[in-house]
Amino acid sequence: MTKRIVICGGGAIGTATAYFLAKRGAQPIVVERNAVAGAASGKSGGFLAYDWCRGQPVDRLARRSFQLHAELAQELGNPWGYRRLDTFAGYAMAGMTRAGARGHAWLSPSVTLTGQIGSPDTTALVEPHAFTTGLMRAAEANGATLKQGTVAGLIQEPDGAVLGVELDSGETIEGDAVVIAMGPWSILASNWLPLPPVYGLKGHSLIFRTGGAIPAEALFLEYEEESGEVLTPEVFARADGTVWACAVSSTSPLPIDPARVAADEGAHDRLERLCRSLSPAIADAPIVARQACFRPVTEDGVPMIGAVKGVPGAYVATGHSVWGMLNAPATGEAMTELILDGATRHVDLARFSPRR
Ligand SMILES: Cc1cc2nc3c(=O)[nH]c(=O)nc-3n(C[C@H](O)[C@H](O)[C@H](O)COP(=O)(O)OP(=O)(O)OC[C@H]3O[C@@H](n4cnc5c(N)ncnc54)[C@H](O)[C@@H]3O)c2cc1C
Repeated sequence: MTKRIVICGGGAIGTATAYFLAKRGAQPIVVERNAVAGAASGKSGGFLAYDWCRGQPVDRLARRSFQLHAELAQELGNPWGYRRLDTFAGYAMAGMTRAGARGHAWLSPSVTLTGQIGSPDTTALVEPHAFTTGLMRAAEANGATLKQGTVAGLIQEPDGAVLGVELDSGETIEGDAVVIAMGPWSILASNWLPLPPVYGLKGHSLIFRTGGAIPAEALFLEYEEESGEVLTPEVFARADGTVWACAVSSTSPLPIDPARVAADEGAHDRLERLCRSLSPAIADAPIVARQACFRPVTEDGVPMIGAVKGVPGAYVATGHSVWGMLNAPATGEAMTELILDGATRHVDLARFSPRR
């Protein structure tokens, strides 16, 4: 019998899960409160690295996912600008001119590169909004459905087994299983299920339209502001002729409504000043997006991916922190194997158990 699976949240994790489930012939229903890719999954950097999680619990997940990103781009025609990159580390100081970054004519003399930290074999980039919406469309082409709605609770049998979800409108959606994939808003599910909390950490970013002026490169810098404060900007040149940059994080509280996420006062101006000083190509470039979003983090920094113990039919996939775009495909694949086969084949999820 075809399994109906209700996925709460249309971010990269929810849509990747829907894609892999639909490809296996299941019937996923993604319930999204605001817009698919409307939160971090549409606003993040989209940077991917093969082996940067070495020694960490997510290492295997990351390596598998890096491989799946390449396969997905190939299979689905790459409408999300997937490309391999050269990646460099370096530093810069406000108002300071140095020798400049030799061989990187697009950078200002204020930037010094200290080394190459990734090559096209190990680092890549996607445009996260196009990636997340592209996966949703591909899932729909395989039989998934998208439902606009705010999940407000679960429907359960007297013994606790999950029968579906209830929306804030009172409408119910039935399913054989429910996956919580609401990013930082998964904290709401701690009211419905025995789950530890998930928190949201805020980041700001800007997108500049630079045209073809910048090669396929990514930078991880240390930048000393005139005040002496050190920021760690990340600058990624995308395939669509834009440059995405972030540097300014904050601990402002997560609004309950994802549509109400807004930038902190002054954060974008500070980021804009910094970015414009890094490259003449950015100095004059128009800004096409000023963004703020929250990444989901667990208490120990390790994602929660797996079945909710003691509640048949309940699953969770969240807490991916800074690597949610990278790890979305392998998470979706593992959730699919777990729900349809009862066990995973590619990545052992024991370390990600919500009850660890
Ligand atoms: C500034 C920044 C830069 C980043 N850069 C990178 C990077 O370069 N590489 C990388 O791998 N990762 C990066 N990340 C991390 C990555 O963006 C996140 O880990 C990932 O997007 C999380 O995806 P998600 O699907 O879990 O959550 P989200 O994208 O937050 O999606 C959750 C969805 O749930 C919906 N929702 C909420 N409440 C409800 C409800 N009650 N009912 C229904 N739906 C609901 C929301 O509207 C939202 O669409 C970055 C994050 C930030 C903040």
